[in-house]
Amino acid sequence: MKKCVECRSTDLAHSKEQLPFNEVALVEGTLHRCNSCGATYHDFSRVEELSREVAHIIARQEERLLPEQIRFLRKYLGYSGKDFADFLAVAPETVSRWESRQSPMVMQLSTEKLIRLMAFTETPLTAYGLDKIRSQTGEASKPLLRERAGHWHLVVGGGEHKVAL
Ligand SMILES: [Zn+2]
Repeated sequence: MKKCVECRSTDLAHSKEQLPFNEVALVEGTLHRCNSCGATYHDFSRVEELSREVAHIIARQEERLLPEQIRFLRKYLGYSGKDFADFLAVAPETVSRWESRQSPMVMQLSTEKLIRLMAFTETPLTAYGLDKIRSQTGEASKPLLRERAGHWHLVVGGGEHKVAL
């Protein structure tokens, strides 16, 4: 039997409600209300799967992202505000303003498309080394590739690295 966390009472009422989920969706779920102290609780089942569904729905919407949706996608992707700013090469204040409903700053469409794509691939971009792109311009050397044993290898110094794609 479930107990009230506040007063330990077992006198709980249950009702089906549309519950807000991270400010970006409504989820049909059960609301538990304590008849002794009035405290309310809800629990979402399969939260990971639910988060993924919501992230994909948001990433597919035709309207521009709202501040709370940007915040949701950032957290879904596992970034702190500072790490997100570092990764996208913007100031931390820029991320705060993208997510602010008081004084929102419109995200560049190219950036918005990038984070929508990230929500679908769910592969951390560190896996591609994209977190290492320098913000300053500098001339990159041309990569030398060699085919061997049915795979392309990047020739670096004396050695070869299999090109992972
Ligand atoms: Zn209670």
